[in-house]
Amino acid sequence: MVQYTQSPLMGQMMDQPLLISSIIQHADRYFGQNEIVSRRVEGDIHRYTYRDCHKRSKQLANALAGLGVKMGDRVGTIAWNGYRHLEAYYAISGSGAVLHTINPRLHPDQIAYIANHAEDQVMLFDLTFLPAVEIFAEHCKTIKAFVLMCDRDRMPAETKIPNLLCYEELIAANSSELDWPLFDENSASSLCYTSGTTGNPKGALYSHRSTVLHSYASAMPDSLNVSARDTVLPVVPMFHVNAWGLPYSVPLTGAKLVFPGPAMDGKSIYELFESEQVTFSAGVPTVWLGLLNYVAQHNLKFSSFKRTVIGGSACPPAMMKAFRQQHGVEVVHAWGMTEMSPLGTAGTLQTKHLALSDEAQTAILEKQGHAIFGVDMKIVDDANKELPWDGKTYGNLLVRGPWIIKSYFKNEGGDVLVDGWFPTGDVATIDPDGYMQITDRSKDVIKSGGEWIGTIDLENIAMAHPAVLQAACIGVFHPKWDERPLLLVVVKTGAEVSKEALLQFYEGKIAKWWTPDDIAFIDALPIGATGKILKNKLREQFKDHVLPTA
Ligand code: AMP
Repeated sequence: MVQYTQSPLMGQMMDQPLLISSIIQHADRYFGQNEIVSRRVEGDIHRYTYRDCHKRSKQLANALAGLGVKMGDRVGTIAWNGYRHLEAYYAISGSGAVLHTINPRLHPDQIAYIANHAEDQVMLFDLTFLPAVEIFAEHCKTIKAFVLMCDRDRMPAETKIPNLLCYEELIAANSSELDWPLFDENSASSLCYTSGTTGNPKGALYSHRSTVLHSYASAMPDSLNVSARDTVLPVVPMFHVNAWGLPYSVPLTGAKLVFPGPAMDGKSIYELFESEQVTFSAGVPTVWLGLLNYVAQHNLKFSSFKRTVIGGSACPPAMMKAFRQQHGVEVVHAWGMTEMSPLGTAGTLQTKHLALSDEAQTAILEKQGHAIFGVDMKIVDDANKELPWDGKTYGNLLVRGPWIIKSYFKNEGGDVLVDGWFPTGDVATIDPDGYMQITDRSKDVIKSGGEWIGTIDLENIAMAHPAVLQAACIGVFHPKWDERPLLLVVVKTGAEVSKEALLQFYEGKIAKWWTPDDIAFIDALPIGATGKILKNKLREQFKDHVLPTA
């Protein structure tokens, strides 16, 4: 616990807690007519306003109270990006209960583990997940009621799920009369388990204060830059770190909100962009790959799309170039993690950069970016000694700030902070202007003869080759150097490239000894529940790979 010095003179401003309910109240009162548009699981397009959303959130809050949900209780959701999920966001946290978003792409055993660990009292879920819930429901020990987010006519005639209720019936049966409760802003508001590639997932428990502060900071011009003139389509799922906070930061600004529901393929996303005139979006590189491919194959243009935030894993420079040069879409490269709510950095330019060449500006924008106010960072060596900000020296990246975790839910993993800083597990450089660049995840770094090789650079170069769709680099055993890089490549449909030509493509772009020792062409890369490449799977698959130089 941090000890503060007490001032003899306290400020005389109102003592009003920072609560999530104030966001939807503000959206209703000041942007009541602004639209929320959702592609539903049912297949159609649903439209209503922030005022409608607020009203139904209150009805849902009353319904949850009727089901016995109390302050601090966890309520699970397994749902796509849509208006009902947004209602759940505000109803649950607004009542003082804890919104626990669950990633539906996890294995049913893992979902049951998480629901039990969180001690969820009620679980709300979309129609898509009915078959999965049928499988794990009986293993969830604490859930008193399951709520299927649909109308009565979509409810199954028979089910194994105990106490299955209909969302729309609950809403209809409850009044919208409710004064959101006031409570300590440090109360828990939502819970999100990390995707953790090893061991059991661990929960990051956000507070109202951390969420509201993160919403302010992430909406700022040099962060996500959301305004009342935008139409925002969050591609990043509401079950992954609260869709990077967009369900809070967008209503806060009054921008129109568009939800893609379950249809995340290039065609569906493109059509929604055009029909709703989306100006701004956010997502991981794998989703944008699908969209860019669709647009290229059909020779299409965007008529309203201006800006996108790409993060979650490194944005390949080739993708940034395609958005900027072919479509005039500005890309903001952002970095963060579940433990950070998630936003830590965003890449935008400063006045002094505007006179630089396009190439020099691009080099800055390709980095993961600048700390947003509220986040402080540093790089250290293995002995925790701080390293210089010279843009070259790389070290373990540590962060601190009011929306960064201090311990995991139920104290799993014990003390996680190092002298008050959270070790991110990422390896990075920071340049003299404070722009951070991730070299690698520390467990993915290749250790060749005692020296480190960052895999992101090697992947970015491969993906700049016109024949390469996706690339991932892993370290494999080498008798002399311990580990050497093996590049795994997925080639674009109809394109061809030889191993030799691709290796030659590295010449002059990196130190020669960083060049991969071998390339294997594969049909697809394994992608995890949050859209990231599963390097542990690749390492397992290629653990016996014999390098030609070995
Ligand atoms: P998660 O908690 O699942 O969102 O994963 C967080 C991790 O994703 C970070 O610690 C990074 O390793 C990685 N990550 C997120 N954004 C980026 C980015 N822009 N570039 C490289 N890695 C990223």
